[in-house]
Amino acid sequence: MQVHVGESPYIDVSSGELWINVLHESLKHGLAPKSWTDYLYLTVGGTLSNAGVSGQTFRHGPQINNVRNLEIVTGRGELFNCSSEENPDLFYGALGGLGQFGIITRARIDLEKAPKMVCKNSNPFKSES
Ligand SMILES: Cc1cc2nc3c(=O)[nH]c(=O)nc-3n(C[C@H](O)[C@H](O)[C@H](O)COP(=O)(O)OP(=O)(O)OC[C@H]3O[C@@H](n4cnc5c(N)ncnc54)[C@H](O)[C@@H]3O)c2cc1C
Repeated sequence: MQVHVGESPYIDVSSGELWINVLHESLKHGLAPKSWTDYLYLTVGGTLSNAGVSGQTFRHGPQINNVRNLEIVTGRGELFNCSSEENPDLFYGALGGLGQFGIITRARIDLEKAPKMVCKNSNPFKSES
């Protein structure tokens, strides 16, 4: 895994990586992925082939909305890099595509600054007692 810091941080990961490991690696730089699954022992490729929904989805969208690039091996054994600008049909087909358009082998995932702690008042729907 390789973290890129800066104004618009991201992490490059293998699709077999578990989200829990992506989190631990990002946290070394004070960063975290923008969008999660609630259960983190799932692979990057597996959840990007579905959607990746969690409590942050209302803010950032599902995980498939927070990916910049994919590396994909198609059924013909060809390797493609894809994004919203490069091979966009393959990119949007593979995200949430249940593996029907190829196997995701790598992904570039958006990061943001990680909060230092979870505030008990962070839930706007919970009333104070
Ligand atoms: C305990 C548990 C908790 C869960 N919690 C959540 C949650 O909070 N939010 C949420 O959104 N989902 C959740 N899920 C569902 C989860 O997103 C899917 O089960 C996802 O497929 C899990 O990834 P996996 O690595 O186990 O995939 P697999 O079960 O191995 O694969 C599932 C599908 O994805 C395809 N696939 C897998 N890897 C790739 C790849 N690299 N390239 C292309 N296609 C691939 C497979 O062909 C298959 O069609 C949960 C699942 C479990 C078992």
